[in-house]
Amino acid sequence: MSILHILATWSKDMKIESIETYVVDAGWRPWQFTEIKTDSGITGFGEMSDGRNPWGIVGAVEDFKPLLIGKDPLNIQSIYWELQRMAIQSKGGIASKAIAGIELALWDIKGKHHGIPVYELFGGKLRDTQKIYWSHCGTSRARSYELLGVSPLNSRQDIVNLGKEVADKGYTSLKTNIIVRPDSPLSHPPKNTYVFFGGFGGGNGSTDQGLEYTTENQTFVNYELLDVIEDHISALQEGSKGKVTIGLDLNFNFKPQAAKKICSALEKYNMMWVEIDMYEPEGLKEIKDSTSIPITSGENLLGITDYRPYFNLRSMDVAMIDIPWQGFGNSRDVAALAASHQINIAPHNYYSHLSTMISLNLCANVPNVRIMEIDIDDVPWKDQMIGGPLNIKKGVVDIPTAPGWGVDIDTKVLTEHAWQKGKGPGYTNKIK
Ligand SMILES: [Mg+2]
Repeated sequence: MSILHILATWSKDMKIESIETYVVDAGWRPWQFTEIKTDSGITGFGEMSDGRNPWGIVGAVEDFKPLLIGKDPLNIQSIYWELQRMAIQSKGGIASKAIAGIELALWDIKGKHHGIPVYELFGGKLRDTQKIYWSHCGTSRARSYELLGVSPLNSRQDIVNLGKEVADKGYTSLKTNIIVRPDSPLSHPPKNTYVFFGGFGGGNGSTDQGLEYTTENQTFVNYELLDVIEDHISALQEGSKGKVTIGLDLNFNFKPQAAKKICSALEKYNMMWVEIDMYEPEGLKEIKDSTSIPITSGENLLGITDYRPYFNLRSMDVAMIDIPWQGFGNSRDVAALAASHQINIAPHNYYSHLSTMISLNLCANVPNVRIMEIDIDDVPWKDQMIGGPLNIKKGVVDIPTAPGWGVDIDTKVLTEHAWQKGKGPGYTNKIK
């Protein structure tokens, strides 16, 4: 322990002096951060990234400020429940994310105050490394290849080559989405490659969530969408020569009937899981009971009250847990509830590397981790904001050992890449 840490620990009356928020342009989506400064000189950082409502989230942090300034940042439980009581009529959503961003910064402060990683505050670590998977594999390139400085994905061979690249770089698992290419098996192929995200805003008709439907942008007939999915997964498997397990994230795109059909078509592939978001535990159970492919879900659920009916029904094999959306305390509780149901967790981490470090602190501390998400294709300032790239070897990353979340945030990088008001996220279903 350094002299600075000893002096900081002796300081009895630490107070929160200020709270800053950042909305950072991460290419096709914004990231949001909190920075809490204390009168002891310790600063904590939290992440609360949401691609769709960034200004609402940082605005909610502004609303919470009067409950925070002057408070002892080490009394995390007291502050957390004060914030929860203030937000009681806005359960979940934006309020939950804002509270998480504050709570996570407080854990960072507490870890730094004691000179130990956050997981040490909860009894230490159960592992030294964590297996990760290459998430949004192909998804980010399909939409933002120019920004990423990579080749576009216009043909089946491009997807085969991507599968090979993943295997050659040592990853043993990837996750992708539904990528629709000009050479996809469609009677009305698009001119340019796009990612099918109907559940996130495909226009009128997209909430029908079936395999045959017409939206404002695209018509799928005779289960053509099923053919698109199978073609994409088979190309990735072919390129990776079966060395990589494949996750397919269906997001909010389908109702159970369509999801069951997709799972049935993918039974013969080397699937890590099929992931689907659904605010209906019995509907999700219907999908899970129909297939031998593991079903993963839960990234949009917040706290044990949300997860409990899904676990009681055994609606999912793997529970996704989003820490920047519900905080560290809630995430540990959900992991414990999952463990009691013999279910493993997987942190939802498609954000900055601050979230990566936060998620690694959770993985270190709980006994039931399936694997952890990470986006490999990303903006260069993702590494710059933490001083350099992560040390990833063979799809495995080290658990951080430095105090707090284990990383120093360069706020200059955050301000240099501010998200401009009025800029829309690149999630919507665009067909050029
Ligand atoms: Mg997901």
